[in-house]
Amino acid sequence: MPVDPVCGIELAEELAVTHEYEGKKLFFCCNGCRKIFIRKPKKWKKNI
Ligand SMILES: [Zn+2]
Repeated sequence: MPVDPVCGIELAEELAVTHEYEGKKLFFCCNGCRKIFIRKPKKWKKNI
């Protein structure tokens, strides 16, 4: 299962919010976490 790199929870792929970063598809629990990632991707990319 994909893991939200911001809050660290496991997600059901079909319910997740997606975002593409450096050619990789990322999954987030909500648009809030997605926005947090987009604001500072370098801070969170270690969790990808
Ligand atoms: Zn989240």
